[in-house]
Amino acid sequence: MVVVFCHDHSFFKEKARDMEKKLEELKARLTEVADLNAAGAVLFWDQSTYMPPGGAAARGRVQATVGKLAQEKAIDPAIGRLLDELRPYEESLPYDHDDASLIRVARRDYERATRVPPEFVARLNAHNSETYMVWAEARPANDFKKVRPYLEKTLDFSRELADFFPGYEHVADPLIDFADFGMKAASVRRLFADLRAAQVPIVQTITSQEPADDACIREHFPEKDQMAFCEEIVRAIGYDFQRGRLDKTHHPFTITFAVGDVRITTRVKENYLGECLFSNIHEAGHALYEQGCNPAYDGLPLAGGTSAGVHESQSRLWENIVGRSRGFWEFFYPKLQAAFPGQLKGVPADTFYRAINKVERSLIRTDADEVTYNLHVMLRFEFELALLEGTLAVKDLPEAWRERFQADIGILPPDDRDGCMQDVHWYGGIIGGAFQGYTLGNVIGAQVYAAALQAHPEIPAEIKQGKFDTLHNWLIENVYRHGRKFTAPELVQRVTGSEVTIEPYIQYLRTKYGELYKL
Ligand code: ZN
Repeated sequence: MVVVFCHDHSFFKEKARDMEKKLEELKARLTEVADLNAAGAVLFWDQSTYMPPGGAAARGRVQATVGKLAQEKAIDPAIGRLLDELRPYEESLPYDHDDASLIRVARRDYERATRVPPEFVARLNAHNSETYMVWAEARPANDFKKVRPYLEKTLDFSRELADFFPGYEHVADPLIDFADFGMKAASVRRLFADLRAAQVPIVQTITSQEPADDACIREHFPEKDQMAFCEEIVRAIGYDFQRGRLDKTHHPFTITFAVGDVRITTRVKENYLGECLFSNIHEAGHALYEQGCNPAYDGLPLAGGTSAGVHESQSRLWENIVGRSRGFWEFFYPKLQAAFPGQLKGVPADTFYRAINKVERSLIRTDADEVTYNLHVMLRFEFELALLEGTLAVKDLPEAWRERFQADIGILPPDDRDGCMQDVHWYGGIIGGAFQGYTLGNVIGAQVYAAALQAHPEIPAEIKQGKFDTLHNWLIENVYRHGRKFTAPELVQRVTGSEVTIEPYIQYLRTKYGELYKL
């Protein structure tokens, strides 16, 4: 008996040791992929901040080499074998166990990376760079006809890409998965239809009233002083400069090399205070998410944000819900006035608050305010679905755009340049999955914030005192530390107790803008 027992015991022990060894090998391989991607990220960050123009040609080559190495390692069949061998171990663990989650997420990444043939990726990349170059010339010339055949080809590519992931309900589903894994065209479409029905009347009511005067933030604000003030703000909300830094760039972004090195970038307009200020808080929101990830996930696929929508929910929560709130400026406005006495000394806090929350109908998505922004995004999402379904032809896109834009936003785009050609997304990438994350971000951000308030009703009072720890720590605990462990729908369910819903967002808009305008 004893012998049998010992034999069994050592058999299981050996099996456990074997699984442990396999898991270690898997982690080592995945970390190599992550390291190469991090090296690529450093190259990109440098290129977008300090690289002299003379470095451009060589940098493109170096990036391509590093990217190719990362891709080769990511699709190594050895990873696929390890994932298969580790399946019994994964299945013996609870769903949210770190090891089980690592294996699950790594398998999802591996399948995505291996299902699309390299030959297709090469053809698509070549097509994308060609289309981008044509668009870069056609857009200023307002020449949609010139990009039309390219866009038609992009649509074919997009459908072809979706078909590498058979079994979908809607052809956009696999493409949405690239950015917002687990969200479906049908559910996003329903969510957006409700949101549009609620939001269009709010926009119409507000824009029919006297617009806010934002002259006070359009004075001259020297760059050096803006940068100093913005640094103080992002530090105050919890961005850790020991694990990050702030630099200037053309198009602000956040980039992660490791949990201990998450960098933000900004740009300054000396004749508009809102640019540097709010893009900084926005990027810091993305960075708080990345800095808040469990350090044990560093170098593994569990690190990072779980989806475009959840990432955007955090940048917008900090930028809009916190950073454009009255309470926030109760604390910071006297400091802002002290930093810019010549410009703001005689400007009442209320005037400033109205200026930073000005709502107006506008042509350009990236310039749109908090209230109108979603309308810009939702029409793009619906056009993506219609194009992919074949219910809208590329040739009819400009006309459809004008019609829809006027119905939703209330102005008629004077040309295609600032109409259906304004965003780079379709002209340098695929059609499908490119836009929904922005609006999901607004919706999820409000939903998560409402859950934080339910847990800690003292948060708004703390914000008025310039204290952000309670909110920040709650977000770390409930959202940030999980990294990619849960999909967006899983995370929202865990954090808020319900699926993604527009109610908290609409409630937020009505409360905030009901106080500023007659609604
Ligand atoms: Zn963002």
